[in-house]
Formats: sequence, C-alpha cells, structure tokens
Amino acid sequence: MSRLKIATANVAGQTVESLYKDLERMIIASPPGICPVDLALNFLRLCHAQTCGKCVPCRVGLGQLANLISDVLDGRADMNTLDTIEKLAKDINHSADCAIGYEAAGMVMRGLEGFKDDYIAHIKTGKCTYHITQPVPCVALCPAGVDIPSNLNYDVWLGPAPDKPYNPEMLHFAWRGLWDYGTGAMGDMGAHTFDAPIWALNLGMPTKIQATSTPYNKDYLPQSECVTYEFPARGNMPPVKVTWSDGGIKPARPAELEPNRQLREALYIGDKGLIMHGTHGAEPQLIPERPGFVAPEKTLKRPSNIYVDFIEAIKEGRKAANDFEVSAKLTEIMLLTNIAVAAQRLDLTLEYDAENMRITNCPEANDYFHYEYRKGWSL
Ligand code: SF4
Repeated sequence: MSRLKIATANVAGQTVESLYKDLERMIIASPPGICPVDLALNFLRLCHAQTCGKCVPCRVGLGQLANLISDVLDGRADMNTLDTIEKLAKDINHSADCAIGYEAAGMVMRGLEGFKDDYIAHIKTGKCTYHITQPVPCVALCPAGVDIPSNLNYDVWLGPAPDKPYNPEMLHFAWRGLWDYGTGAMGDMGAHTFDAPIWALNLGMPTKIQATSTPYNKDYLPQSECVTYEFPARGNMPPVKVTWSDGGIKPARPAELEPNRQLREALYIGDKGLIMHGTHGAEPQLIPERPGFVAPEKTLKRPSNIYVDFIEAIKEGRKAANDFEVSAKLTEIMLLTNIAVAAQRLDLTLEYDAENMRITNCPEANDYFHYEYRKGWSL
C-alpha cells in the first residue's frame, strides 16, 4: 500500500513565492508617466527569462523582439522596424509551443494595437508622447521625484543655483535659456562676438544700457532681445553706441551697405565706411572695399593653444593672451544685458557706475546684482 505524501514548500520555494507576490505589488505600484514602449519591453524580457528553451520562436524570437523594441526606445529604429516587430510578434504568437512564448508575443501585439502612436512618436520625433513629453531614452517619473539619471551628479550640476526638481528638459543645452542656470544667448555668443569690439575699440564699461525683448517668464529668458549700450569717450576716442541683437533679430541695415550683402555677426559703422566680421573677429571686411588697402601689422599675441599659453604665462610671470581683465569686463557686460532685460518693466534706460557696480538711477535694479547661493555653496 502506497503512502500519500503532502509536499510542503521549503524555504527557497517560499521565498520564490513571496518574490512573485512582490513583483505583483511592484506592477500595481507602477510610477506615473511610465513609457508604455519601455513597459512592453520589460514585460517581454520578464517573459523571455521564463523560457525553457525547447522551441525556437520563444527561445530566440522573444530575444530578437526585445532587441527591436530597444532600437525604438534608443532612437535607432525606423518605420520598417515597426513592421518587423509586428510580423515577428505574430509569428511567435502562432508558433510557440506554450503560453509562455505565445502570450509574451501576444502582449507585444496588444501594445502595438493599443499605443502604436507612441511607438511611431518614438521613431519619428524621438519623444515619448504618453502623459509626458521627453526625449528618447525615456525616463520614468518617480513618485518621490527621484528620477535623476544615475550618470548625473545633480547636486554638483546645480552648484550654487536654486535646488529645483530635476527635469530632463533642462539638459544638455536648454539650461542656457533658464534664468536660474544660464545667461541666454548673450551669455553664450557674447563671449565670441562682443569681445572683438571691446578689444578693438578699448570700450571699457558702458554707462547706459537699455533693452527690449520678446516675452519671458520667471523661468525662461526671452527668445530674442535687442540691447543698446553707450560707452563713454576714452582719451581721444569718441563715445561709442553698441547694439546687440539675438534670437533672429538683426539690426537695421545702414544705407552704406550694398543690397544683397549679407549682414555678419559684427558690424562697425564709422565716418569713412563700415567693417564687418564673423564671430571671434573672423574674416574682417572693409566696406566699401578698397583695392590696394594694406592691413595693419598684427601686434597682439596669437597663441596656437590658449591652455598652453595660460600655463606658460603663469610659469613666465606674464599676462596670458586671453587675460582675465578682458574676460571679466566681458562677463560683466553680458550680465548687465540680462539685468537690462529684467529691468524693462521699469521703463527707463539704466545708468551704470562700473567702478561701484551700481545702477545709479534706479535703486530697485541693484537688487538684480545680488545672488542667493544654495545652502552649502558660497563665494
Ligand atoms: S514557448 Fe513554451 S515550450 Fe517553447 S520555449 Fe517557450 S516555454 Fe519552452
């Protein structure tokens, strides 16, 4: 007579059971804004991990299906990839030997029916359109707000700037348009364009600044601005008025500029003609052109490598070709630009006392000079 045995689960078996329960709870607690294509991929990988490997559609096909969906998420796919995913999922669904294989493929097919637009958006625009708009690869929104990529040290990235929740839209370039982290187009291109007139005309600091711009808000600098600076006379050099335009706005064409001649990044209007050049003072042109004109001799040092020049300048106890005295002035002018933009609502031309770093005709505007550093950071 045989005996009836009732098997009781050992510790390992009980643990596996509890892990299944944990998984169930994790799925129920999916974070908001999770990318459905990413979700489909992870469900598929989970199913593929259960394969026993006896039939090819499940053992090999599910892996290939996962690779194709990864291509969609990582921006490597085109519309043909989508057709291949659909066809392969159907083939696996029809040919796998058991539910582990054909149900996994069936989930991919249901996803293609239910959120095909999102697959297409990933392929065509590089964006996830489900609840949130963000660049590929997708970043799920963590309910606790901890969705910072692991390769980013957000604390160091923020530095002294205000501690605001991470948003993938801030990186890598967009930060320059945010008041908290960047200095707008002037802070970017001013260094490459404004420095030539500062050097060439020995401009010093402006005494008057006035700005007009497209709308902006407390987060974003304006898309476009036009700023006028007045520099006083220096020795026997007369006062100079400089106008800065960015974001697609160009200055008015002077009458002396022939039709069809393209405006370049910098334009000097003198009593006897014009000079234009590109960024970094590149390729200056005299207008009108003067056949036989002999350019003045080059007197400024032109190091082939500014980093090496900086180190050599320290060793030799001399000033570097790119001296801080020039860059500090340039930085101050660029920051004044943003103060003038922010002060537009005051409806006046700012008068600036560079020696004391004060706006003299509007005490309220001086508040913009102060910066509250984030806790733990100071100068
Ligand atoms: S479909 Fe079933 S039988 Fe085929 S490999 Fe997957 S688990 Fe094994």
